[in-house]
Amino acid sequence: MAQQDHRKPQAAAATTASASVAPAESTGPVASTASTASTDAAAPVSPVLDIAIIGGGIGGLVTALALHAAGIRCTVFESVPVLRPLGVGINLLPHSVRVLAALGLQPQLAATAIETAALTFYNRHGQLIWSEPRGIAAGYAYPQFSIHRGELQMLLLAAVRERMGEAAVLTGHALERFVDDGDAVSLHFVDPQGTLRGTVRAHAVIAADGIHSVVRRHFHPDEGPPRFSGRLLWRGTCEGAPFLDGRTMIQAGHDDQKFVCYPISRQLADAGRARINWIAELSVAHDTPPRQDWSRRVDASIFREPFAGWRFDWLDVPGLIDATDAIYEYPMADRDPLAGWTHGRITLLGDSAHPMYPIGSNGASQSILDAEAMASALVETGFARGDRHPAEGFARYEAMRREATGRIVLGNRAGGPDQVMQIAEERAPSGFAHIHDVIPLAELEAISARYKQLAGFSREQVNRPVAP
Ligand SMILES: Cc1cc2nc3c(=O)[nH]c(=O)nc-3n(C[C@H](O)[C@H](O)[C@H](O)COP(=O)(O)OP(=O)(O)OC[C@H]3O[C@@H](n4cnc5c(N)ncnc54)[C@H](O)[C@@H]3O)c2cc1C
Repeated sequence: MAQQDHRKPQAAAATTASASVAPAESTGPVASTASTASTDAAAPVSPVLDIAIIGGGIGGLVTALALHAAGIRCTVFESVPVLRPLGVGINLLPHSVRVLAALGLQPQLAATAIETAALTFYNRHGQLIWSEPRGIAAGYAYPQFSIHRGELQMLLLAAVRERMGEAAVLTGHALERFVDDGDAVSLHFVDPQGTLRGTVRAHAVIAADGIHSVVRRHFHPDEGPPRFSGRLLWRGTCEGAPFLDGRTMIQAGHDDQKFVCYPISRQLADAGRARINWIAELSVAHDTPPRQDWSRRVDASIFREPFAGWRFDWLDVPGLIDATDAIYEYPMADRDPLAGWTHGRITLLGDSAHPMYPIGSNGASQSILDAEAMASALVETGFARGDRHPAEGFARYEAMRREATGRIVLGNRAGGPDQVMQIAEERAPSGFAHIHDVIPLAELEAISARYKQLAGFSREQVNRPVAP
């Protein structure tokens, strides 16, 4: 196969390495074949890794755990020098909890997260549109967890290091460019200062490097920035009194103005308080969003005014905003589904493969389902037993996940389960005497059921017997 050099244009001149990168220690049952072949004469080169995972976010770390459990060796390369518990709240739907439970992580999740019991939609006047039980309360065999994203990431990181050794996750390693020569992929990493750290060879590469994936950009150089929805999100958490039953996720408003919140801390709940995660969302006139950066802090004054009157008898929205110290702005954006994720020995996973609107609580959950599919595809196709060419395994993984996630990306653009709020707004902008005068029960039920089916978490899908 012809050698392909995938490098970032601005870094194309860097050819020397300052340090060699050691692969993770072998703790699994499958030994890696050693090779010192290099495509970069100046760089010290390590033995060939079985699998390099690019990105230590939720998708990358769960993939590492799933591969390890399947007896496949891998190393995670993460760009930030130290992984810190960043982000705010995130939901894990029962199908992803099923995967994490099989990896032995349910007790750790339950110790920090809230077991969500209901999802409830209101109009902008605070009137109830639709409420449905969630997780165990809805008859699932697994709970739905509302959790702090950073705590989830730290919990996964601890599990990876405990099971696979400290060197299984190498931080301060940003993938800068890579070369697939057909036999293996040479990966060139830089440190946070942009200095080349070293070169690693891997039989297979899984790019879990998020919505701004450098790997995706190499293969799709004309794709441009993520596709902006015209809506900005402001997110934060604050401590407060529990609302409703203390285990409910609420959404209020409509497509152009929405407020979402849910409690995320088991520890505070046990003390009779709540760590409340909230998201305020507004449509904005401009069409050039700031770059997606989960750490961009802003002042509440830029969005608080439209929510000033949202004081319901069950929730005080401006009160929550005012009680919050750190507020982060994030443009709601996604990318069009791709016609393929795999190029030779390299494939995409999680947000690099299928970034989607944070609607329906699916971003993290889908990356976890990807991880499970990846491990089973590689095992079934004999990756670790054979010549360590991932082509067959990656093809099977893609067949399981690409079209399924593409449908969710498009479904979320159409509003996902949140569309009940938009329908209520359009049919009854001033409110209603009874919701079923506006939206018949059967229509509400159908919207909810359709989305669960689309995103793969109908009760039947989740409660199917575990394969022996
Ligand atoms: C800091 C942060 C905070 C977030 N907070 C929230 C939140 O509060 N709520 C929410 O719903 N979603 C949040 N997300 C997004 C959410 O985690 C993802 O949508 C979902 O979990 C899918 O995860 P992922 O692993 O595919 O991508 P991500 O979670 O984005 O992880 C990608 C990882 O790859 C690393 N990376 C990127 N480029 C390179 C490179 N060149 N070389 C090596 N490593 C690289 C990144 O540092 C990151 O750790 C956040 C993401 C990040 C990175």
